[in-house]
Amino acid sequence: MEVKKNQDYVVTIEDLSVEGEGIGKISEGELGNENGFPLFIKDTVIGDVAKVRVIKVKKNYGYGRLMEIITPSPNRVKPLCPVARQCGGCTLQCMTYEEQLKFKRRKVENNLRRIGGLKDIEVPVTLGMEKPWRYRNKAQVPFGSDKEGICAGFYAGRTHTNIDSEDCLIAPEINQTIIREIKSFMEEYHVAPYDEERGTGIVRHALIRVGFHTGQILVCLVINADSLPHADKLTERLIKIQGMTPVCLNINKKKTNVILGEKVVNLFGPGYLEDKIGEVTFQISPQSFFQVNPSQTEVLYKKALEFAGLTGQETVWDLYCGIGTISLFLAKKAKQVYGVEIVPQAIDDAKNNAKINDIANAEFYVGKAEEVLPEYYKEYEKTHNGETAHADVIVVDPPRKGCEESLLQTIVDMQPEKVVYVSCDSATLARDVKFLRANGYELKDVTPVDQFPHTVHVEVVCCLHRVNS
Ligand code: SAH
Repeated sequence: MEVKKNQDYVVTIEDLSVEGEGIGKISEGELGNENGFPLFIKDTVIGDVAKVRVIKVKKNYGYGRLMEIITPSPNRVKPLCPVARQCGGCTLQCMTYEEQLKFKRRKVENNLRRIGGLKDIEVPVTLGMEKPWRYRNKAQVPFGSDKEGICAGFYAGRTHTNIDSEDCLIAPEINQTIIREIKSFMEEYHVAPYDEERGTGIVRHALIRVGFHTGQILVCLVINADSLPHADKLTERLIKIQGMTPVCLNINKKKTNVILGEKVVNLFGPGYLEDKIGEVTFQISPQSFFQVNPSQTEVLYKKALEFAGLTGQETVWDLYCGIGTISLFLAKKAKQVYGVEIVPQAIDDAKNNAKINDIANAEFYVGKAEEVLPEYYKEYEKTHNGETAHADVIVVDPPRKGCEESLLQTIVDMQPEKVVYVSCDSATLARDVKFLRANGYELKDVTPVDQFPHTVHVEVVCCLHRVNS
């Protein structure tokens, strides 16, 4: 029997894909295939028995839509958020938090085993949050319109269909008030939301960032125009909200999925938001990357610091340093720290952050890590009679695509005792760990940290040691 689109089947969910979809097989009896035909089904949990409708059929697998739970898994919970199923964000909300943490641990372990070649590795439990709600300090809320008028919410999974829901349960409650103010300003002054298809209208996104330690709030309205009509009226409304500073505009007139454009126009306040990680204060520009889950960031950085094992004598490189968060966190325990980051604005922030915290032993360079470090290495050899540049610890925290091999090669050439790798994608981490293991390093410690509860994302921090060092 052939699996057909729009046909319903009853399946038991046996596994989860890396994207968090349940995997259930249409069984032998129904199919005449001894291994069964696997279906990927969003919103299901291991242990569910569910009626599903086939929505897409490929050669060896297919996709199904959950129609009805026949017997729920013991690990199933009712999502707190009313739009959990439509929204593309919190795809794991129907699972207990404990089960989510297990899923993330397994994901890291499987990648390190399969891609990293560490066949027997056992990854310890994911460090999770006590209260995994309202944890995000940053929201990028898209504006659009539907039959009823302006809507602001988030995109439905894998689409750009705007779902109108003001309260996101992983964001601070104050965001609702802010979104409501912006909407009512737009209605009163007839400022149209951006229409993605036609490229018309003005308001594209509202970037909201809340300093959890300082109580400061940054609102940056991304607009498809050079200026915002009646901007002073918007500012007037927003600054009535306690902590509101700064308010700014970001100009993005391109037809693109990239949220922020290059130019920022400041409307109120100093143009940056202040927040703290541990004892260090950071000034953050709207365009700079800043970790989104402040309390778990501290957990992550403390692990990184523990793995680095600094005594005060070390030379440390922090590659992909953003506004210098890890660099400055480590600088207090190291002799010298060098940070490298591609976004010039972030490096300006990093230098400034070193200054306002009285940290004199941190230096920052703008550029691609895979260019800056090899150039530094070559230059050092030339100017030091063939002697090679040395680092004691190299920290990397790359974006999802991981590190370029040329960078890993330079790291290996510099022979640091330790490489601390902070990763937001355990598949590319595993690939890079494989390279480092083949070139004189062994993986000593690995800890997944849950920076993004209810989503499939998992952050990992690990430490590699030079063999025979
Ligand atoms: N370590 C920082 C930032 C990590 S996010 C923190 O914990 O806050 C990754 C950073 O890498 C971003 O700031 C991004 O702008 C930067 N980046 C991306 N590609 C890069 C490259 N090729 N070289 C250097 N930095 C890069």
